[in-house]
Amino acid sequence: MSLAEVVQLSKVKADALVPFNHRKVGDRYLLSNDFGDHTFVTPKEFQRFIQAETRPGEELHERLIATNLLAEHVDVKLQAARWRKKKQYLFYGPTLHAFVLTHRCNHGCQYCHSSIVGMERTDTDMSIETAERAVDLAFQTTSPGVSIEFQGGEPLANWEVLQHIVEYSRQKNALAGKALSFSLVTNLSLMDDDKLDYLLDRKVQLCTSLDGPADLHDKIRIYKQGSSHELVTGWMRKINQRYKDMGLDPNLYRVEALPTITRPALTRWRDIVDTYVSVGCRAVFMRKLDPFGFAARSAKTLGYSMDDFVAFYINAVEYIIELNKQGTQVMERHAAIMLAKILDDAEPNYLDLRTPGGACIGQIGYAPDGSIYSSDEGRFVASMGDEMFKLGTVNDSYDHLMTNAQTRAMVMAGLNDGQPDCVSCVYKPWCGQQVEYNYKTQGSLHGRMRDSNWCKKHKSIFDYLMAKVERGDPEEMRIFERWTTNRVLDHFLQERAPL
Ligand code: SF4
Repeated sequence: MSLAEVVQLSKVKADALVPFNHRKVGDRYLLSNDFGDHTFVTPKEFQRFIQAETRPGEELHERLIATNLLAEHVDVKLQAARWRKKKQYLFYGPTLHAFVLTHRCNHGCQYCHSSIVGMERTDTDMSIETAERAVDLAFQTTSPGVSIEFQGGEPLANWEVLQHIVEYSRQKNALAGKALSFSLVTNLSLMDDDKLDYLLDRKVQLCTSLDGPADLHDKIRIYKQGSSHELVTGWMRKINQRYKDMGLDPNLYRVEALPTITRPALTRWRDIVDTYVSVGCRAVFMRKLDPFGFAARSAKTLGYSMDDFVAFYINAVEYIIELNKQGTQVMERHAAIMLAKILDDAEPNYLDLRTPGGACIGQIGYAPDGSIYSSDEGRFVASMGDEMFKLGTVNDSYDHLMTNAQTRAMVMAGLNDGQPDCVSCVYKPWCGQQVEYNYKTQGSLHGRMRDSNWCKKHKSIFDYLMAKVERGDPEEMRIFERWTTNRVLDHFLQERAPL
C-alpha cells in the first residue's frame, strides 16, 4: 500500500488527531508527536488512524490513546506539565562553562579543532585576573548548576590558573550554593602524581582522547616526545585504579574518553572498541570529524563522506551490541542519549540534541584573552579568523550577553520548529540544532537541513535505532534498557566549601 493510497486527503479527520509526523520504518509507519510519544502502525492501521475509524476496546485505539495521538483523549494539563519538565532548561541560563586556559599544546594532532601554539607561547595563557572575572560571570547564570570544563590547548599547561579557578569557584559557591562541578579535557601528557592527587581530591572529572589502538592513535595524535597512546592508556589505567581505591563504583567512575573518527579509522571499528574495553571504558562516543580548526584544513587526508561515517557508526554499534550479547557491558553514548529520549522520555540536556540548541543559553566559551563565545565550537570558528560567534568579553554584563541581538538570533536559528524540514520530521521531538555547524558548513545560522550533513547524520542514526526498536528483539531491547538507565555521578558534585 503506497502512501498515496493510505492518505486519502478527503477522508482525513484532522480534528480528531493530535498533530503528528510520520516516516516509513521497515514495513510500518513510525508516528510521533511533539510530546515525544511514538508508535508503529501498519499501512492499514495508519489509514484507520487518520480517518478516525478506531473504536474503544481495539488494541490500536488504546495504543493511540496511550501515545497521545487522539485529540479528545489528551490530558492537556498532564502533557503541559510533562513538556514543561522536559524543557526545563529553557527556564534558566547556561550551565556549561568551557574555559580555554591556554592555546599552548605539546601535541600536534592532525585534526585539532583548536588554534594551538607551541609550548613557549605563555602569552596565550589565561591570566588569574581574567579567570576570576570569568568565574564571576559564570556564577551569574540563572541555572541552578555551574559546570566548569577546562579546555585548551592543553589545559594542564596552565596549572596554576586551573587550580586558582577551582579554589575561587568553590569559595564563591559557599554563597551561591549551585550544583558545582569541574571537568578537565586533557591529553594527559603533562599529568603527574601531584596533579592527579589534587584533581582527585577536588573531584575534577577527567576526560581524554583515545583514538583506538596505538598505530591509529599515534599516527594522528602526534607527540614528539614519545607515544601518546602509551601515555594516555597508562594514565587511564592508573586513574581508574585510583577511583577503585577510593571505593567508587568502577562501573560508573572512570576516565571518560572519546575517539575522533578519521579516514584511517573507518575500517577499524573493532580495534577501537576493543581498545576502549581493554582500558576499562564502558562507554564509547564515536565522534565525527568536525568542520572546525585543523580538522577543516586536514579534511583532504583525514576526511570522508557522511555516508562513510554512518556505515562506520552502524558497524561499530553492531559490534558493541554483539559484545554485550557475549557479556561485555559497553555502550555507544550517542545511541544511548537518543534511546533515552525515545524510550525513556528523558531529556539529558545533551546540547547537540536539544531545541533550541545549546549556543549561548546552554553553554558559553571563555577564551584566554577574556573573549566570550556562544560555545566551544563558536571559539573554534573564531580560531579560523571569524568572530561571528563572539558575544562579548568577561567585562560585559551577564544580562547583555544573554539578551543581545546576536544571542537571540542564535537561539531562534537553533529551533527545530523554525526549520522547514524539521517541522515535518518524525524525529523532531528528539533532535536538535547546532548553529555553529550550520554556519560553518552552509554559511547560515539556520542552514538547510535538506542538504545538511548534520541532519543526514542524525536522521541516519535515528533510522538505524528506530529500525531496531521496531523489530523489538528482546535481547537488544534489554541491552538498550541498560544503556538508558540514568546513573547520576554524584561524586563529582562539589560540597559547599566553608566560608
Ligand atoms: S535535523 Fe534532520 S533529523 Fe533532525 S529534526 Fe531536522 S530534519 Fe529531522
